[in-house]
Amino acid sequence: MTSLDPRAPLVLDTRELGRRPGSQREVTLTAPAPADLGIEVLSVTEGSPVDIDLRLEAVMEGVLVTGTATAVVEGECTRCLEPIREDLEVTFQELFVYDDTRHGQQDDSGEDDETSRLEDDLLDLEPLLRDSVVLALPFQPLCQPDCPGLCPECGARLADDPDHAHDAAVDPRWAALAELDPEDQN
Ligand SMILES: [Zn+2]
Ligand SMILES: [Zn+2]
Repeated sequence: MTSLDPRAPLVLDTRELGRRPGSQREVTLTAPAPADLGIEVLSVTEGSPVDIDLRLEAVMEGVLVTGTATAVVEGECTRCLEPIREDLEVTFQELFVYDDTRHGQQDDSGEDDETSRLEDDLLDLEPLLRDSVVLALPFQPLCQPDCPGLCPECGARLADDPDHAHDAAVDPRWAALAELDPEDQN
């Protein structure tokens, strides 16, 4: 297990918070987006600013982190390939358990352990940010909710040209096929 780098932009030091349940701290930060923050077709550009507002709250088992993050996501419409650029705001909440509770229980599940843990009072926001961004994104982003996509015949973007049509007079060979009885086509 690699230890956290306290200088990494998404690693927070919770030492100042103390461990008295109920103590709270507000944190506001802007961090450069890590690589691959999002999904293949829509993501936050690496290095672009992610604004994060957090409340850290000491509870019995660890530190409860509640926050919102805002960033600009870019990608393209899965129907017409038009570039998409929009603001994304995500909210998240996660309990980071004190790492000393790990001792005493033999736990070799390692990476399979879903519990977020503090490491030497440091917490890593990146996995939390990554999960909440991915969850907030549509699987198939569209430039507009009813994007009509591309013309199957010429590839024109139909949203730009709603009355788009082709003359029925296409290649005469296709016209001949169209007259065939569908039963005979196999
Ligand atoms: Zn589109
Ligand atoms: Zn067309």
